[in-house]
Amino acid sequence: MKVNPWKAAILVCLLGVIAILGCSSETKPPTKIIFVGIDAADWDVMKPLLEAGKLPNFTRLIKQGATGRIETFIPLRKSPVLWTSIATSKMPDEHGIGGYIASTPSGEAVPYTGNTRRVKAIWNILSEKGYKVAIVGWMVTWPAEEVNGYLVSDYIQYETDKHIKLDRQTCPDSLFKDIDRFRVTQNDATDEDIANIFPVDIDLEKAGIAPWQKDYVKMIWATDETYRRIAHYLNDKGIDFLAVYFNGIDSMGHAFWDYRDKEGHPLQHIIDYYYVWIDGVLGEFLDLVDENTLLITCSDHGFHGPRHAADGSLLLGVYMHARYGIVGLMGKGVKPGSHIVGASILDITPTILYAFGLPVAKDMKGKILTDAFEQDFLRANPVKFIETYETGERVVGEPIKTPVDEKIKKRLKTLGYIQ
Ligand SMILES: [Zn+2]
Repeated sequence: MKVNPWKAAILVCLLGVIAILGCSSETKPPTKIIFVGIDAADWDVMKPLLEAGKLPNFTRLIKQGATGRIETFIPLRKSPVLWTSIATSKMPDEHGIGGYIASTPSGEAVPYTGNTRRVKAIWNILSEKGYKVAIVGWMVTWPAEEVNGYLVSDYIQYETDKHIKLDRQTCPDSLFKDIDRFRVTQNDATDEDIANIFPVDIDLEKAGIAPWQKDYVKMIWATDETYRRIAHYLNDKGIDFLAVYFNGIDSMGHAFWDYRDKEGHPLQHIIDYYYVWIDGVLGEFLDLVDENTLLITCSDHGFHGPRHAADGSLLLGVYMHARYGIVGLMGKGVKPGSHIVGASILDITPTILYAFGLPVAKDMKGKILTDAFEQDFLRANPVKFIETYETGERVVGEPIKTPVDEKIKKRLKTLGYIQ
């Protein structure tokens, strides 16, 4: 039988269309989710930079993704409280992380440690479901918990003295040796490393800039750079859920907000320069988004600088934080250019679970950020619920004292969080 080439071609086309519709790969859950946490990121601070074209990757996120404001807790709470609520979708009184510094039964002031968290974090849930996770630098994650994959605790930033040896900085423990080469400390950071952020080539003394201010920027940059490097290293290890946290915007805000009003001062735009650096970091993660990947980014609060109390005194520390931070999704299932309304920091964990096709627990306090997704995706992936993920015994302990506690307290004092 002779085949009409035109008919054959039409048949091939038809089969192709049927195959695409039948698989509906467009509406399948992402096989990978990347989460980028950016402490204190704020659209209002970014606005002039976005308009000047200085944040091309945040602009890409706005155009190609779904973005909006995210509401933090009011009254304002400290960042460890917030990041734990982001990871759990539980209120502070449920998850048990109350701030930076806990007090032990004997009345000692010790930083909160991860073993005091009373509920499961997203990385516990995903690990149990068989997803391979990599968690980098998330607040209150030391000692590193057992996960299916890798966890790099936030304490790796403090172990800068070679004589301090701390166990369980990573999961598995053996990972520490592997990632040690990616660690940058304040002492490792060169002037060149921070040249795009800090005015390294001016006479600091003449400009009235204290030497510690440069060291402080080096410390902030070194921590974020360390996490950035480790996240990319772990990303190549067949990870389903990669989460990385960056603190720099918050620390820069606390230390340098005052200079924003000082016209012509060399430090006037230093926070903006840090945003530009973080924009590049975000861009590297946006570049990893392929047709099966979803990227989610958010901050835990915004930042508006000091406020005046009723008696005229200046409110610092947590009072420099603003009610609304940022949230953005891009990639698989996301409706490009869409706007997210009414987001809360409690919504991140339910949204991650939903996107992976997993049930959301009824005892979680957040909701799914449905605004962000295509209608087809929402139709093909109805929301599933379970009562709770809090099954089994979670061993909860007292905060653990470590040799880095003094370093942590010193940094918190610099930031104005503790006296
Ligand atoms: Zn924060």
